[in-house]
Parts: sequence; structure tokens; C-alpha cells
Amino acid sequence: MLDFTYDALPYRVVFGVGALAQLPDEVQRLGASKALVLCTPEQVDLAHKAADALGARSVGVYPKATMHVPIETAIAAREEAKRLGADCCVTIGGGSTTGLGKAIALEGGLPIIGVPTTYAGSEMTPIWGLTEGGLKKTGRDRRVLPRTVIYDPLLTLTLPARLGATSGINAIAHCVEALYAPDANPIISMLAEDGIRALAKSLPVIARDSQNIEARSDAFYGAWLAGVSLGAVAMGLHHKLCHTLGGTFNLPHAETHTIVLPHAVGYNASGAPEAMRRVARALGSHTATPAAGGLYDLAAQLDAPLALRDIGLGERDLDTAADLAVQNPYANPVPVTRDGVRALLQRAYEGVRPA
Ligand code: NAD
Repeated sequence: MLDFTYDALPYRVVFGVGALAQLPDEVQRLGASKALVLCTPEQVDLAHKAADALGARSVGVYPKATMHVPIETAIAAREEAKRLGADCCVTIGGGSTTGLGKAIALEGGLPIIGVPTTYAGSEMTPIWGLTEGGLKKTGRDRRVLPRTVIYDPLLTLTLPARLGATSGINAIAHCVEALYAPDANPIISMLAEDGIRALAKSLPVIARDSQNIEARSDAFYGAWLAGVSLGAVAMGLHHKLCHTLGGTFNLPHAETHTIVLPHAVGYNASGAPEAMRRVARALGSHTATPAAGGLYDLAAQLDAPLALRDIGLGERDLDTAADLAVQNPYANPVPVTRDGVRALLQRAYEGVRPA
């Protein structure tokens, strides 16, 4: 029997090949006239193109976004936005760039226009993250939710193959955990299942033909649904583990998600049979291949990393990671035990098939 609370977030989404051309109109629609364009140093050319298109409506480009939003970076960006008298931020890039815009919005309330270029999904969530003294803090605040998000699949054509694959599986992880979230609801579950379906279908096509714009569009559509799912309901063991591994051992975000996901799903399978059925169905796996195995096979098919030892984790770190992962209790379909998490991490470390 249905029993749920659904608190919808306000979104404006502009989606389509070439949609970036609508940026000036979207800035105007927001009533803004002094947009500060944020990006990483690697995407500065793209950011300058966007700023040029905005003309007098832009006060410049700030190209210093970096992974996990160090507090020093956030403070410097807030000061620059104030100095330039910016009245909105345009974030053009992946989760790191969106995260910097959120850090500015968290303090001063500057509205954000999000222009994502990866599948991370941060642009659809009210979740912010800041790293101080080696510890990453996250929280939810509606002020950081972008007012408008422009999804232009053309911007993903330059994604390096490895980042494209792992970022896509990062998005699938949001959908998977949304399906067994303690506050799951029918709308978000529908979006989450369709998100997995769109990504599982398009990512292998992109791996073979990176310039296939139809597959790029499908993958971005899936990433959008994944971002909505992440923003709407609580995440479980998988996201907590990846947060610990990323924050404490400085592992790359999307790759960590890719490696851990099949093992976290294997761990949770017995506590969430309906979610597992939906994941397997969306993956297009035959009923004989359970969800965890299907996710592992997808990562292997995309030539994505499969073992934590291959992305910089040491075997001696596994005990520390298991200790940290069970420190703060949270809802999960299967009780989170230290021994269970330690065994899961061992398999993820070695890159073997999930249990
Ligand atoms: P990223 O933003 O760190 O980008 C990785 C690198 O790829 C950067 O150098 C970037 O400039 C480059 N890049 C991005 N798009 C590109 C493109 N289309 N072509 C060429 N290069 C491109 O990576 P990410 O995985 O998108 O984001 C990870 C960060 O986002 C983590 O800090 C994570 O915690 C955060 N995140 C936050 C949320 C949230 O809701 N708050 C959600 C997901 C991720």
C-alpha cells in the first residue's frame, strides 16, 4: 500500500542540442545583468565563450573551481563575486564547478544558472559541500539550488572517455539508491528507473562512438533524472561509503562511485528486492543477471576501473574506511555492520565480481 511524502523542488530546465545559445535570454529572464561565469582552469575557453555571448551582461570569468570545494577557494570566489558586483553566477562545468557556485549562493544567496558538462547531477540538488581541514561537510539548503539549468548535449562531446563512463555510472548510483531510499516515492522511483534505462542504453554507444549526439542526448537526459532523484530523497550505504573514500583518501569522485556501486548493491540486495528488480529491468539485464552483476558488467563493458587498488587506495586503508563508514548511523535497506562493510570493501579493492 502506498504511503509517502513528496516535497517537489522548483526547477526550470532548458534541454536540447545547442541550448547554450539560450543563456543570454535565461540570464535576462532571471532579472540579472552582471553574471559571473565560473569554471575549472581546464574549461576556461568554454567559459569565455559563454561570457562573450553574454556581452555586457557578464562581469567576467572566474576559472578556479576545483574538486570538493576547499573553503579557501569558496572564500576567494565569494570575495571576487562581491568585488565585481555580480548578481548571478553561471556555473559551466561538472560537479566541482556547480559546487563552487553553491558555495557562493550559500553565503550571499546569489542565484545560479547551471550549465552542466558531466553527468554528476549536482545542478538538480539543494546539496552543498565544502572541504575544511581535510574534512568534507555537506548539507541541504534550498538557496543553493540552481534557478535554471541548461542541458546542452554538445558540451559533453569533449568528455574524456573514462570520465564520461564513470560520471555516467555515478549518475546511475543516484538512481539506484533513490529506488530503495527510506523516503522513496512513486514519482521519483519512476524517474530513477527511467534514468538508469537511459544511461545504460546510451553509455555503451558513447563508448564506441563518442560523437554520437543522440546517445549523448539520451545520457544527459538520464543524468538529469538522476540529479532530480539525488536531490529528492536520502541516499544510503553506497553514497556514504563513497563520501568517506573520497573525503578521507582523496579518491576521484566518479571512479570511486563506479567501483563501489556493484558491491554496495550486492550488500543491499536482500533488503530491497523490488528496487533490485527495477534496477535489473532498467539495465536490460536478463532476469538471470541480478542488479549487482549487471552494474559490474556495465562498468567492465565501458572499460571503467573496477578495483579500488587501481585508483590509489592502499590495502591498509580498508580498516580505517570500514571504521569511518559505520561511525554515524543512517537508514539503509540492510543493517550496516563493520564486518559487512569491511568484506564489501575488500571485494571492491580487488575488483572481483560482487557477492
Ligand atoms: P569535476 O567537475 O571535478 O570535473 C572533472 C574534470 O573534468 C575537470 O577538470 C573538469 O573541468 C573536466 N570536465 C568536465 N566536463 C568536461 C567536458 N564536458 N569536457 C572536458 N572536460 C570536462 O567532476 P564531476 O564528477 O562532475 O564532479 C565531482 C564533484 O561534484 C565532487 O566534488 C562531488 O562531491 C560533487 N558532486 C556534488 C553533488 C551535489 O549534489 N552536491 C552531486 C554530484 C557530485
